[in-house]
Amino acid sequence: MEQDVAALRRLIETARRIVVFTGAGISTESGIPDFRSPGGIWTRHNPILFDAFLANEEARRETWRRRFAMDQVLRAARPNRGHVAVAALVACGKASAVVTQNIDGLHQTSGVPDRQVIEVHGNTTYATCLECGERHEIEMLAAAFARDGTAPRCNACDGLVKTATVSFGQAMPAAAMARAEAEMAAADLCLAVGSSLVVYPAAGLPVAAKRRGALLVILNREETPLDDLADLVLRREIGATLGAAVGVQ
Ligand SMILES: [Zn+2]
Repeated sequence: MEQDVAALRRLIETARRIVVFTGAGISTESGIPDFRSPGGIWTRHNPILFDAFLANEEARRETWRRRFAMDQVLRAARPNRGHVAVAALVACGKASAVVTQNIDGLHQTSGVPDRQVIEVHGNTTYATCLECGERHEIEMLAAAFARDGTAPRCNACDGLVKTATVSFGQAMPAAAMARAEAEMAAADLCLAVGSSLVVYPAAGLPVAAKRRGALLVILNREETPLDDLADLVLRREIGATLGAAVGVQ
């Protein structure tokens, strides 16, 4: 085993309470594009701000067109070895929670219980009514959109329906951020995995863990602005590295 992977393995073995923080890099290995990366859907198209979604039917239609356009990719994506390793850390009680910037639901699919996944940017695998909070399934919304081409509205209250994600210009979910901060404060090891650590306020969470006394490991294919702060930096493929360190295939 390479020296840095062995070092990661030792840190995991000696940790008492790990918090895992994940970003797009763990899911690109499952075929999900990094939406914010150069060439990603949010750089090829201007992002649609939350206020525009609220104000304008055409902005809502365009938002939904983009969401339906990536539906096949999202449905086909399966957890990879990185997700499996994270799930194993949770299952054995080493990791108390997974705080994720990802909106794909793959941590849950890989077996991490819902209550231990904290989604700071929400989840795009389902939608909710912005008025009454009712859950709506994407498949039904897609079928209706294909029929009439209008942005979905809630059948219970006629409110606007949006994927359960945090849009550009939309407030961070307060409850999720508070839980994430509490997990960072309680951990003695923070594993930041596959995040470029540039999107704030989410990227502030590993910093908070470090300031509260946790060791910080950054595993990412590219360098990050927080590398100097970390106790260990691994610029490697995620699934193979985490799989080897945790001991899962
Ligand atoms: Zn509603």
